[in-house]
Amino acid sequence: MRRKMIAGNWKMYKTVTEALALVQGLKTKLIDIDDVDMVVAPPFTSLAMVYQAIQSSNIMLSAQDLYYEKEGAYTGEISGGMLKDIGCQFVIVGHSERRSLFGETDEIVNKKIHAALNAGLSAIFCLGESLEEREAGMTFDVVNRQVRAGLAGCGEKEMKNIVMAYEPIWAIGTGKTATPAQANEAHAYIRHLLSGIISGQGAEQALILYGGSVKPSNAAELMNQPDIDGALVGGASLTVESFSEIILSSRG
Ligand code: PEP
Repeated sequence: MRRKMIAGNWKMYKTVTEALALVQGLKTKLIDIDDVDMVVAPPFTSLAMVYQAIQSSNIMLSAQDLYYEKEGAYTGEISGGMLKDIGCQFVIVGHSERRSLFGETDEIVNKKIHAALNAGLSAIFCLGESLEEREAGMTFDVVNRQVRAGLAGCGEKEMKNIVMAYEPIWAIGTGKTATPAQANEAHAYIRHLLSGIISGQGAEQALILYGGSVKPSNAAELMNQPDIDGALVGGASLTVESFSEIILSSRG
């Protein structure tokens, strides 16, 4: 039985003061939850303070991105080692906004996954098709390419620290959610692809999150699907009420 994971991607929202207020509220509301893995991904500027605030809670810390070099003259970039140093356990890699707005290719995503693992972080590896690709019947081809390229050089050992996140681009921040059946179909396909990379048992244990306009009103139905192991939540992770409702409804 796989444990559910709910991760909140705060994107470029929240000052340090706002981030602390949000995480304090979550801490209070979710104090008794020990059967769901809960992760928050604030902007870089709030990571250190949020890390202090989540001590003695069940909430874990993620960054939203990293650069794949260890250190050097890369103005504006942040390494995996720096994130680990300030208390991150996870880092999101390959988010569609990074891919579409900042030109991240599958090859860059692969380098970032290895950099995260080498720094002792777990990677939340995002992938998913665009609306045009879905309408052209290319969903599985795109997912296949992204999984294979993103996970190049990863085997059984690496996969223990990789969480997959299927996020159809047409559903991110649009209010349009994949139906539970559409999402589960893609998840089952990703699990099938994983079984060709690692053992069938390893693929069975892999966590595959769904992301794309998850909100309190649709979370339970999505989380009840057999191959959906949790959610990566954007907009609805920005308030205590909606994020904690999603967490509570993932418990079944
Ligand atoms: C995301 O940012 O990963 C995401 C899924 O956003 P939203 O929930 O707002 O669609």
